[in-house]
Amino acid sequence: MELQLNVLDNGLDFINKCLYELEDSTDHAPSIKYAVLHLNAGIELIFKARLSNDHWAFVFEDLNKAKYDSYIEGDFKSINLDTALSRLQHICKISISEQFISSIDRLKKTRNRIEHFQINENHYQLRAIIYDSLSYIVPFINREFPKIYGNSTFNEISKLLHSQENYLCERYKRIKNELTSNHSFKIDCPQCNQEHTLDVDEEICIFCNYGGNLAINDFIYKYADLDKEAGTFTYKEFDSLKYCPFCHNESLIISSSEEYCKCLTCKTQFEKEKFLECEYCKQVDILIDEDTGENGEIIESGYYCYHCLMGD
Ligand SMILES: [Zn+2]
Ligand SMILES: [Zn+2]
Ligand SMILES: [Zn+2]
Repeated sequence: MELQLNVLDNGLDFINKCLYELEDSTDHAPSIKYAVLHLNAGIELIFKARLSNDHWAFVFEDLNKAKYDSYIEGDFKSINLDTALSRLQHICKISISEQFISSIDRLKKTRNRIEHFQINENHYQLRAIIYDSLSYIVPFINREFPKIYGNSTFNEISKLLHSQENYLCERYKRIKNELTSNHSFKIDCPQCNQEHTLDVDEEICIFCNYGGNLAINDFIYKYADLDKEAGTFTYKEFDSLKYCPFCHNESLIISSSEEYCKCLTCKTQFEKEKFLECEYCKQVDILIDEDTGENGEIIESGYYCYHCLMGD
């Protein structure tokens, strides 16, 4: 069998392997030490993959000796973890927190002891080290590889982790401040399934870093009832999905209990009673004074656009 994996896939494969070893490990089983080795190798490869997205030469230890042919053949001395981190920060200008760096450093030192000397940590300490690093690297992958969502190994990793109490705890510790200090409009994330973590205005999930248009569209798709009539929506207090009168995307969610509508595309939020929809053709509008919209009027039973009022 020919084994062909690109750098990113190779890294993900190592992280996935680490998770299975973590599951299998018990107080006495040695598999936990392989989980440390594999996670460390996985992180190193993920960093190299991110560096080579900017330029393939960045993974050469000596940039002066970088040759494309050697890169393709994998025949060169590549950078170590510390150099990879430094180049990511200072050449690619990627922000990596101090805590992320010390987490990786702890993992790396543990790996070195396992490989060259002896393990001093017990089973629980090793697990804590692993979950700590995972809670940084998985959101990093989500943020730095925007096309990762079609990747089956990454989806497997996310699914496994997002159901594990240990991982959830570690991750929530990281983002506690960000979650409480920022009062923006937040919805449940369709990727990691955490509640109120997807910041609509910033278009990013604070928990898993899933973001952009894709996240918003996934959310709408998840809660819009496609079998029922258009506009049926079932998410918390929001019960309908309409076309937005401002940006004309079908992404305006209307609260049934609260008095407001919010467009998930253009982010406009306004009072529910200002939303108008022509009774006849369903064209949407916004109320400007007591009984008119920009393009129609409120007549007894409801709002009608001028086109429908004048026409047949
Ligand atoms: Zn998420
Ligand atoms: Zn809009
Ligand atoms: Zn109409």
